[in-house]
Amino acid sequence: MSHAILVDLTECVGCGACRDACQQIHHFPQVEATSLDAQNFTTLRLYENPESGTETYIRQMCQHCKEPACASACLVGALEKTKDGAVTWDANKCIGCRYCMLACPFDIPKYEWGSNNPKVRKCTMCYQERHVREDYEVDDAGYVIDRKGKRVTVDGREITAEERDTILEMTTNYEGNRASACSVACPMEATIFGERSELVAEAQRRIRENPDSYVHKVYGLKEVGGTSVFYLSNVSFESLGFRTKLEETPLPEKTWRVLEKIPDIVVTAGVALGAVYWITNRREEVRRFEDEKKNRIKTKS
Ligand code: SF4
Ligand code: SF4
Ligand code: SF4
Repeated sequence: MSHAILVDLTECVGCGACRDACQQIHHFPQVEATSLDAQNFTTLRLYENPESGTETYIRQMCQHCKEPACASACLVGALEKTKDGAVTWDANKCIGCRYCMLACPFDIPKYEWGSNNPKVRKCTMCYQERHVREDYEVDDAGYVIDRKGKRVTVDGREITAEERDTILEMTTNYEGNRASACSVACPMEATIFGERSELVAEAQRRIRENPDSYVHKVYGLKEVGGTSVFYLSNVSFESLGFRTKLEETPLPEKTWRVLEKIPDIVVTAGVALGAVYWITNRREEVRRFEDEKKNRIKTKS
């Protein structure tokens, strides 16, 4: 089943519950972010219509493109379009090369500027969180393991039983279905998670039945070949700052055409340099960890 998210801006009251839930489930600081960064996968901005005086809150997040340019540009396969609909990110593969940032037509992926081992982060449609299962058990050290006995990781972190329970609570909606944390948290049902074709039909139904309440466009349906995040609005998407001049053909074709022109040696060198960079960072991390451990032992003795 392919999933999607529908954001109806006419229902949004700007309460921030979606943004707060996203920050909480990812262990990010709770701040009222108005622009995306590596610790804010979704944001809220207020638009005040100068003519009518009405207010519209604008949510922003990854569009989860059907054919994502970010994934096409990623040389190490850290970004992937899944059958689930989500474009996922693999913490163990990302080398922070930033090609995805250049490729994304919506300017979504963001770099971890403040990190010693920087990677590029973005909304994952809570893919890993939605796949954490209730029946996963816990090993002797207190970490959750899957049926094969492998520790379960979310965003590259091994999770405890307490975290498993929090994730389950935050990604289960009132109908008992697994859903993104932002949609579960939304008190107005302005953000809905569901099956893609059903959400497209729902968006079209709302416009058809209330033609005076909506701009007659489902944003995300055609942009760059279609996405898995849709928006409805009563104000033109252009005035709200959405990118409205995007082509309707998928961008990966172009990414590949550009990559095909790059000689293999350059791509190979790019991956090799990325690998060297990653290994150097890992070494630094291990060295710092070892130093800290030694200091702790000294302090105790
Ligand atoms: S919006 Fe950008 S980051 Fe998100 S899937 Fe599309 S290309 Fe990738
Ligand atoms: S789908 Fe998940 S990761 Fe994306 S904005 Fe919502 S809560 Fe955050
Ligand atoms: S939780 Fe729902 S109503 Fe509140 S800001 Fe987010 S989308 Fe809008």
